[in-house]
Amino acid sequence: MHELSLASTMVEQIEELMRSHGIKQLDKVTVTIGALSGVDCEAFEFAFPIAVEKTLLEGAVLSIVFQSVEVTCRDCATRSSPDPLYLRCQTCGSNAVDVVSGRDLMIQSLEYTDSTDITLCETESGLT
Ligand SMILES: [Zn+2]
Repeated sequence: MHELSLASTMVEQIEELMRSHGIKQLDKVTVTIGALSGVDCEAFEFAFPIAVEKTLLEGAVLSIVFQSVEVTCRDCATRSSPDPLYLRCQTCGSNAVDVVSGRDLMIQSLEYTDSTDITLCETESGLT
């Protein structure tokens, strides 16, 4: 399963972060999965507990933040959130669009026992 190898790679990255921050036990992992990332949220959710077995992450809860698709149109310069299967501008129908979000698969934050979170990346402000 594609998602299992992705989850395993992510677990390794998180273990490394935990070691470098001296975190011994993790409560919660928040992961962002984009609609265009090619990752199936349900399959990822299923794979995660398997991937964390016998790792530092064992027992951690997975939280998935789904990132919808956002594009900017090169013709009319508006921003819209089209269906991932039909990437076109929802304002003028042009397919000359640039994807601004929806491609990510990333670790968003880790929560651990002393309740301080490490935020690895900001959630999108939509302003940049
Ligand atoms: Zn347009």
